[in-house]
Amino acid sequence: MSVSPSSEQWVVGRYFDGNSSHSSEARANVVGGCLRLEVAGKAKHYPADQVRLGVQVGSANSYLHLSDGGVLESLDVSGLQRLARELKRSGDSWLQRFEVNTRLIVFSLIAVLAFSVIGVLYGVPWLSAQIADALPVELETRIGEEALANMDKLWMEPSQMTEARQQEVLSAMAPYLRVMQDDYPEHSLQLHFRASEALGANAFALPGGNLVFTDDMVALAKNDEELASVMAHEVGHVVHRHSMRNLVQGSLLVFVMVSLTGDISAASDMAAGLPALLASLSYQRGMETEADDFALAFLQQQAIAPQRFADIMQRLDPGSANSDEEKDVASGLSSFLSTHPPTPERIERFQTLD
Ligand SMILES: [Zn+2]
Repeated sequence: MSVSPSSEQWVVGRYFDGNSSHSSEARANVVGGCLRLEVAGKAKHYPADQVRLGVQVGSANSYLHLSDGGVLESLDVSGLQRLARELKRSGDSWLQRFEVNTRLIVFSLIAVLAFSVIGVLYGVPWLSAQIADALPVELETRIGEEALANMDKLWMEPSQMTEARQQEVLSAMAPYLRVMQDDYPEHSLQLHFRASEALGANAFALPGGNLVFTDDMVALAKNDEELASVMAHEVGHVVHRHSMRNLVQGSLLVFVMVSLTGDISAASDMAAGLPALLASLSYQRGMETEADDFALAFLQQQAIAPQRFADIMQRLDPGSANSDEEKDVASGLSSFLSTHPPTPERIERFQTLD
């Protein structure tokens, strides 16, 4: 076959007439909106609606099916696609389009990935909240007690504060604690003091209602109202069952990871305890907002200036601490700020409402 200057427009292949298995050399192009097919020097014309592109997945060949039963088979897949495009006919089903359109495949992969990410980002937290809310409070209390025992073994020691000082702080907190105990009798809200080098100036709420303040946190507070504001924030996490949600979420994520990767070691890593415990004490931003809402309402109800919370939060930030001593006190392995990520907006809420 001679190569003419216009040969790039031609698609070369073999023609089957649809009646016999015999095939002939053929070539095709598009002229005036019609497919022009040349077989053995004879030309036939097919309007666009009499031609459809067929792609066999996994085959090197593509086909143009003609309305009279004939088929043009060619290895020049992109050439046939071009002809089909020129005929404004690119196959007869979305599935065929899908299979030949790489861009669509990439787009679909991205869509699947995005749905997975959205599912993990939003679906898992939502499901975790539903499950956590459905779990009995007794279970939560037991988990919390075990967590406290574990933390006592690993990270904490009995408070170094004198008995008198502990009593003094407890008495100062008692009126506030009592109000919250009365409001939320299902949670056993209790205040504990611990010494901990690893945790630094810290306060956290365990599932069920055990509230732990480190000695450094008590030392960092300039007055009882600051401690009360931190306590109210922590109780906010308890009543919204945030750490329980995090625990459920951790388990769900392990389940998702193992399902997706088949890697059981991911589960044993998570189950190793420490990271899981730490993760369960790290709150998401939405949870911080809920706990802040709770604290704000409580402070206003108790006629405590919301500014107190802003004051101690800012003192916790080693970057804005005034003295080296404050910096030492505020820094810790797992600081209050790392588990309760502060944002300027959060602090501002308590400042503007003063
Ligand atoms: Zn928090």
